[in-house]
Amino acid sequence: MILLDVFKKRTAEGGGFREERKKLKIGIPKFLNIWSTHRFWIGFLTSLGFEPRNIIFSSDTSEEQFREYGKGRIGMDSCYPVKALAGHIGELLMTKKIDILLVPMIYSLPSFLRGSVVDVLSCTRVMMAPENIKAGFIKEENTFEKMGVKHLSPFVSFSEPHLLPKYLYESFRQAIEVTYEEVEKAVRDGLEELERFDREMRKKTREILEWCARENRPCILILARPYHMDPGIGHEIDAEFQSCGYPVVWGQYLPTDRDLLQWLFGADIEAGLIKDPFDISDVWTSSYSSNTNEIIWGAKFAARFPWITAVVRLSSYECGMDQPTFTPVQKIVEHSGTLYFKFGDLDETRPSGSIKIRVETIDYYVRKYSEGIIERKLKRLKPQRPIGFGGECE
Ligand code: SF4
Repeated sequence: MILLDVFKKRTAEGGGFREERKKLKIGIPKFLNIWSTHRFWIGFLTSLGFEPRNIIFSSDTSEEQFREYGKGRIGMDSCYPVKALAGHIGELLMTKKIDILLVPMIYSLPSFLRGSVVDVLSCTRVMMAPENIKAGFIKEENTFEKMGVKHLSPFVSFSEPHLLPKYLYESFRQAIEVTYEEVEKAVRDGLEELERFDREMRKKTREILEWCARENRPCILILARPYHMDPGIGHEIDAEFQSCGYPVVWGQYLPTDRDLLQWLFGADIEAGLIKDPFDISDVWTSSYSSNTNEIIWGAKFAARFPWITAVVRLSSYECGMDQPTFTPVQKIVEHSGTLYFKFGDLDETRPSGSIKIRVETIDYYVRKYSEGIIERKLKRLKPQRPIGFGGECE
């Protein structure tokens, strides 16, 4: 019996739809761009009446998770972040007793660069991953049906918010009794929750950068895709630098406050090189991919911001999207005198020894050259600094 029938039967026996929803467990694999949109899903589902404790994310990616639950489910060759999805789905199915599995097909992403770039699409592999990996769970028998789990894979285009209620309603009504109006409101709540979270993260990053300015200390910027924050995908390289004593910030959550961006990009705008601080057309004209655009913008930010003295680039093995960006990002960063290091070809194996040796080498360079880098970058900027970065009235 499919979940909706169970749901209708229970509802007919008494109790409203929202009461029933409180009892349903919904599993979400913590993979790819769920890392940058998870707050939307939490806001959306709680608004629909799902209990927060019943919204269950899979664990971080790990070799064990893939070996235990994902092996044998992969029918195509791909980068590891996509293949890892099989382990996440398997783990949710085998260990969490879920009623619904939600694996969104994310076509485009929420991005602070929207409006200044051509588009904010996700990688095609990100979008197709749910369908590709699903095939491994239905090829011999339909594992979802067998386990009584409703598989939902809604098409999600964050760049077209007016379409979100339509596609999410079409998808969710296959599993629960829900009205279009409820979904519309839940989308609004989800987007608000995501914006609130992003704002908070940018505020925290600004606080870290202000501390670096106050103490005149170097900071390391990680340029990567959001899912490299997953310890099993990014191998916690950021934490290695933190353990050396460096503040580490991620490109996704750099501050976007007017005063700071005017200080960093004002001269380029006045010179007519760019039309606004988020314009990347001076260095990257094919600005279709959201994550790629943000990596390029992060490189520009790092090239101008004095206390970011080193950029660490992370990339996964077989990532076709990252390949064309390697040279431009390196050139943007190094042209400014900022140090640049790359950990490319990351896959499921964590090469602990070689990571440690490389981090030690990078630590040596950052310690040796940061003071001079900060001085030279400060000289290129206008003397009037924003408040928090040595500006007046502090
Ligand atoms: S951007 Fe690269 S790592 Fe990410 S899904 Fe696409 S190909 Fe894989």
